[in-house]
Amino acid sequence: MTEGSEVVPGTTPETALETPQQADRARTIFEKSVPGRRAARLAEAGIEERPLDELIPADLLRDEPPGLPEVSEPEIVRHYNRLSRRNFDLDTGFYPLGSCTMKYNPRLNERVAALPSFSRLHPATNPEDAQGALELMFLLQEALSEICGLPHVSLQPSAGSQGELAGLLLTRAWQADKGRNPTKVLTPDTAHGTNPASVAMAGYEAVKVATNPSGGVDLDDLRSKLDGDVACLMLTNPNTLGLFDPNISEIAGLVHDEGGLLYYDGANLNAIMGLARPGDMGFDIVHVNLHKSFSQPHGGGGPGAGPIAVSETVEPFLPRPQVVRRPGSAGVPEFDLDFDRPKSIGRMRGFQGNFGVFVRSFAYILSLGGDGLREASEGAVLNANYLRKRLSEGRAGRYLPIGFDQPCMHEFVLSGGPMKKELGLKTLDLAKRILDFGFHPPTVYFPQLVEEALMIEPVETESRETLDSFADAIEQILEEAERDPEIAMGAPYTTPVRRLDEVGATRNPVLREAA
Ligand SMILES: *Cc1c(COP(=O)(O)O)cnc(C)c1O
Repeated sequence: MTEGSEVVPGTTPETALETPQQADRARTIFEKSVPGRRAARLAEAGIEERPLDELIPADLLRDEPPGLPEVSEPEIVRHYNRLSRRNFDLDTGFYPLGSCTMKYNPRLNERVAALPSFSRLHPATNPEDAQGALELMFLLQEALSEICGLPHVSLQPSAGSQGELAGLLLTRAWQADKGRNPTKVLTPDTAHGTNPASVAMAGYEAVKVATNPSGGVDLDDLRSKLDGDVACLMLTNPNTLGLFDPNISEIAGLVHDEGGLLYYDGANLNAIMGLARPGDMGFDIVHVNLHKSFSQPHGGGGPGAGPIAVSETVEPFLPRPQVVRRPGSAGVPEFDLDFDRPKSIGRMRGFQGNFGVFVRSFAYILSLGGDGLREASEGAVLNANYLRKRLSEGRAGRYLPIGFDQPCMHEFVLSGGPMKKELGLKTLDLAKRILDFGFHPPTVYFPQLVEEALMIEPVETESRETLDSFADAIEQILEEAERDPEIAMGAPYTTPVRRLDEVGATRNPVLREAA
């Protein structure tokens, strides 16, 4: 900004509180109160309700209820966190990072995971002395099996990407058991980068399948690439465009007919929990990102967990050991680690997995229940479509058109192509400017088949007000860019550090601070 020019809200630390969005967040917790909003709603206790003055002496009772702010749990956490930290994280603000499912992590799960009997358990404890932990793992396996629609689960893989590797090693073992040694694995051109990377790690050749004009798998291209040398097709459904492929049954049939397996990248499970099951769609192997769909603080690199669910025919090859239940034999622990698995692909990691992650996700699943999980997915899809619609209006609609114009699932992808052409602003500039408005930017430049892609996943735990505020900010940034695109090009202004030289950091990484 040149000297003497008009001060633009939010462009310097001194003016950081001047945008309506930022002023909104600086309100007191009482000002944020919305009548009737609650941090928790408990199920009916099934006990008859008694008047309060039967339980507490009348002279100790208040005349009026306390004037407590009525806010949701995420709002409480955000309020105090904003006061205490200057770092950007999920508890500070909206984090619509597409494909990452940055949903609110209920504090209840942290409390359960911190119970000493869980948090202080040594990973080498004998199974007979760790029955509770093994029971929790067994029940989590059963819950994930039900959610995925596949009968067997291994909790071992520690990330989605490691689940992919496990799935491909299972594919190799399954194929070899049939006397086959196919060399190729198909992945759509919308696939997450970890898919082809895992394919290469597992020693397969990755072959891309094209996307059709409605955003699904191009069936003709799939047919042309399917032959007996294809070990497996890896797919996420809904895919990274946030679109559910209605041809999934046909796709599954085509792949199975050629002797291939279907691998489901479950990173997008947050769109379909309790609504559709990968096993029912015809998938043989599924990974689940516990840290995405089943609420786990993530984004700093872990820990996470990427359990896999598999069909009956793939089960013999699962990693070793498996957590099993052995009912009814006296003197033998009921829950145990089964090492007697001759066809197993072996261990994916030391010990049993990231146990604290299992505790949190199991607590999450139990607290929501089956109906709650379905509601979560419905909310995620509703929020994504609401924001998609809001961003199809005004300047966003003009400069950031949607790549595939149809109702989406849990996320959607906009193209910054027209913005770059008409305003000279790259998607990266917009993303950096979004930081000055107190939002984490969406995922950028992925998937690659959308020019200047902006991938937005609002998740179910966000309020309508937050979504509106984000849409307003985008509008405001584009309006500002019409007047002066250089402002966004210099962003961010209000963060603890300004724009970083990301290319330089990649080419010349400084991994150790100078003494
Ligand atoms: C996040 C993600 C992965 C990889 O999962 P990690 O747990 O980060 O290893 C794979 N595919 C998709 C579509 C994803 O979004």
